[in-house]
Amino acid sequence: MSQEKVKDHKLKAVPKLPETDTVEFEDKVGECPLCYGTGMEIVPGKGARICSCRQLKKQTGQFESVRLPKRYDGFHFHNYKPQTPSQTEALKRSMSFAMEYPAVDQGLVLMGTVGVGKTHLAVSILKGLTERGFTCLFYEFSSLLKEIQDSYNPATQSSELSVLTPVLSAEVLVLDELGASKPTDWVRDTMTHIINTRYNEKKFTIFTTNYLDERPDAREDVLEDRIGVRARSRLYEMCKTVIIKGEDFRKTFDRSYRS
Ligand code: ADP
Repeated sequence: MSQEKVKDHKLKAVPKLPETDTVEFEDKVGECPLCYGTGMEIVPGKGARICSCRQLKKQTGQFESVRLPKRYDGFHFHNYKPQTPSQTEALKRSMSFAMEYPAVDQGLVLMGTVGVGKTHLAVSILKGLTERGFTCLFYEFSSLLKEIQDSYNPATQSSELSVLTPVLSAEVLVLDELGASKPTDWVRDTMTHIINTRYNEKKFTIFTTNYLDERPDAREDVLEDRIGVRARSRLYEMCKTVIIKGEDFRKTFDRSYRS
């Protein structure tokens, strides 16, 4: 696809069903006899469309449960403007994921320095998937760790399942800023638990990280230093790494006068 086409492409993967065309098994989506839990219904001789069970979930306010911070309201595929070939490629891969899920093999690790648009793309994917009726969840990794810590009950020596359950069960999860938290044993164990559980349940996860695999200079950490060798290795298996290169896009927001 040319860069222009990629930029202009709106996420309208499948025609919508009429509002009234719904069925009565929204809490048994995995058992839907039309789509068998894939979310896509095959219409003989015509193609595929969003299954009516997903339409029903959408109407019942699924979007709020994604937990997207308000400041990401304006992040969409159509306003991501690639500045480099790797950004064009990242946009293409992100859009493919949003349109082809669940017929995908791996999640994504969107990797690159600050401000290249990793969160913008990850949020756009979740919006696209939510539009299609899938259950998605967004968490900044350090906020998730804090919520788990805050929910710790010393009496039972365990954390509230209400925090972890949606993270483990969401069909697609975005963990933003992987590696940003100080890598203590607890952080690594918690992350490994989340990654392994989702992997074993064949659930896809999209990670963003400012840490690269190649050490930019001797003093800087790489992703492996932040999350551990085993977790990085697991991510190679679970996700396609998409390296995004470019300048910090936020610099274009700076309108201050320079002589
Ligand atoms: P990162 O997660 O890589 O640090 P963000 O996705 O948070 O960066 O992007 C920082 C800001 O720049 C956001 O406001 C985002 O919308 C914007 N931005 C980044 N890259 C692009 C781009 N290629 N086109 C349009 N906006 C962009």
